[in-house]
Amino acid sequence: MTERAKLSRLITRGGFLLAWACWVTALSANVSHAQDASKTLSIGTGGKSGVYYPVGVSICDIMRRTKSGHGLDCLVHSTGGSVDNIQKLQSGEVNFAIVQSDILYYAIQGFGPFKDHGPDPDLRTVLSLHNEAFTVLARADAGIRSFDDLRGKRVNIGNPGSGQRTFLELLMRIKGWGAGAFAATLELPADQQGKALCDNQVDAIVYVVGHPNAAIKTAASSCSTVLVEVHDDAVHKLIDKYPYFTDTVIKGKAYPGSPSSTKTFGATATVVTLAKTPDDVVFALTKTIFNSFTDLKFSNAALFDVTPQGMVSNATAPLHPGTLRFIKDATNLDVHMSVKPPVR
Ligand code: GLU
Repeated sequence: MTERAKLSRLITRGGFLLAWACWVTALSANVSHAQDASKTLSIGTGGKSGVYYPVGVSICDIMRRTKSGHGLDCLVHSTGGSVDNIQKLQSGEVNFAIVQSDILYYAIQGFGPFKDHGPDPDLRTVLSLHNEAFTVLARADAGIRSFDDLRGKRVNIGNPGSGQRTFLELLMRIKGWGAGAFAATLELPADQQGKALCDNQVDAIVYVVGHPNAAIKTAASSCSTVLVEVHDDAVHKLIDKYPYFTDTVIKGKAYPGSPSSTKTFGATATVVTLAKTPDDVVFALTKTIFNSFTDLKFSNAALFDVTPQGMVSNATAPLHPGTLRFIKDATNLDVHMSVKPPVR
């Protein structure tokens, strides 16, 4: 079997497709109609307590402050996450989106949640952002210390359309876990799952997200929780095989209940658009972000490790010509390397 066929098999959807379609339809109702990309950037993000949404807000704040230079408006949309974002890009509801690098790959290939749509060769990377960690947060009293301990527990598997749902399903498939692996499942979106955990409706929640973030912080501050390592042989095999997965660590003391660092794996948050988005618009966005790099970086603690070089490397989809033009024009990206906190 080819690598492609194997991956396709791995991420073939389970029995949640119908519910997923309903969710996507429901979530779509939150986004206003198509914007003309030559006038207004409309950015699909994620839940408000994640990292995508506040980073989208920061990007739009920067674009608004600098509007006299480029003339573009900017709107941020809270969405169901990466899969939902790609679908909104494809349907024209947004013209930019932040997505996980693994989900971007599946969309380009037409795998998993994008099987019905088929391969999408029009997706383009604008910039890479922060690392995202597959995050398992469990109730301290649930006896969950490793990913395998989730078997037989009550788990929020994430809303269809979210990156964590696809991530979890891939890992379950690799481990040969069927739909009955958990005692019960909920499909709550990221913003609601912390409350369900603390209300003892589930034993664990999952999220693919940068750290620190408000969703995990609120849950870990409201009840007794532990972050769970996801770093076994199955994970090592995935990391070795697929370039869009990376080893990652959730730093210790980021949240109450987890004083030591937690080993897991994850992907890279990526700003994407379509090939048809005008080069001038992508050039203006890229240039503005680089010119305000310090402001963006210090707007959110999850961007702490982001570097200018990292933003234009590790692209899962081809870089958009507007970004390529910016890179060509930038005399020396190293200039931005020594980042100091902004003076306010
Ligand atoms: N990675 C998550 C997803 O694609 C979203 C994370 C965030 O909102 O920061 O669904």
